[in-house]
Amino acid sequence: MAGPHTHKLTLLSGMAMLLQSCSRETELYDVIYWYLPKIFSHVSGRICLQEENKHTVIPIFEWGKPSQPAVAPEPLKCEVLGKGLPVSARKTSWACCCAYGVPLKDKDGVIGALCVGNPQFPLSEQYRKLALITAEYLSLSVSNIRLNHQLYELTIRDPLTGLYNRRYMDEILGKEFQRARRAGSALGGIMVDLDHFKILNDTLGHDAGDQVLKTVAHTLINATRTQDAVCRFGGEEFFILMTGGTIKDYQNRAEDLNARIAALDIHWQGVSIGPITVSLGVAGFPVHADTPETLVHKADQALYRAKEQGRNQVVCAQL
Ligand code: GH3
Ligand code: MG
Ligand code: MG
Repeated sequence: MAGPHTHKLTLLSGMAMLLQSCSRETELYDVIYWYLPKIFSHVSGRICLQEENKHTVIPIFEWGKPSQPAVAPEPLKCEVLGKGLPVSARKTSWACCCAYGVPLKDKDGVIGALCVGNPQFPLSEQYRKLALITAEYLSLSVSNIRLNHQLYELTIRDPLTGLYNRRYMDEILGKEFQRARRAGSALGGIMVDLDHFKILNDTLGHDAGDQVLKTVAHTLINATRTQDAVCRFGGEEFFILMTGGTIKDYQNRAEDLNARIAALDIHWQGVSIGPITVSLGVAGFPVHADTPETLVHKADQALYRAKEQGRNQVVCAQL
């Protein structure tokens, strides 16, 4: 007859299989929420995890009745996070939050901790082994998901500015056009091009130019809504896709961007670069364009007219 430990091992292998198939961290959480209270059925526990691309470690899940409330552990005070080794409360003088803590690791180091049991009671050998194996599976899954996410980000983003690259913008444009056609809603596009950027590059150097591109990209992101997509269209050209709204809204947004960029005071090697200006072309679906290509083209044509008319201004596409 299968004993309780065999049952836990069966649960553990079931969890391992499901963890392998997770492609997002939220899916992974669903799996552990279901399995961990069953695998560690008579003891309390907690999982703390470093947020992706951040230094903060936060409690993401706890079960049973933890001995202390779930607070974010301080890496410098927590031995599991600090040393990256399993820690047994009874073997240290340090006040542990649990009986047994195991680090979660990726290729760069410790990314969290699995804490099991109450520090006042020793944890059985069986539970310790289960904790070690669980931590191993969790570490692998979290680091795989994060690695895949990082690789995906590399394929869709421009490395200098962090904005979407043009290839991904084409993908977004296709999807948003489909959605807008279905919903009978509108789309707006703004093409932005830095004025006389070549002169700036030639006089101050390429690195100063890069600094300007990064700052302008940051300004564009800050001045647009999260549902809008900002892309580096080419060298010193950016394209913004807006969902919903009217031509007047797009024009207002473009005027706002123009004013924000003109107000920037960018410094390079301690010296102010001086005012930067841009020219902007605005076009909308379905008013000016009926395909992704024509929306971009119409915005580009309008931008061209803004350049012709003296730069540092917004021009809207013609009907
Ligand atoms: P206009 O007002 O007509 O747009 O003039 P412009 O000088 O901005 O336009 P032009 O097309 O003549 O020059 C664009 C410059 O942008 C030339 C190129 O060296 C620079 N550039 C393109 N990509 C980058 C980049 O990644 N970094 C830097 N620093 N410069 C870049
Ligand atoms: Mg330019
Ligand atoms: Mg250009």
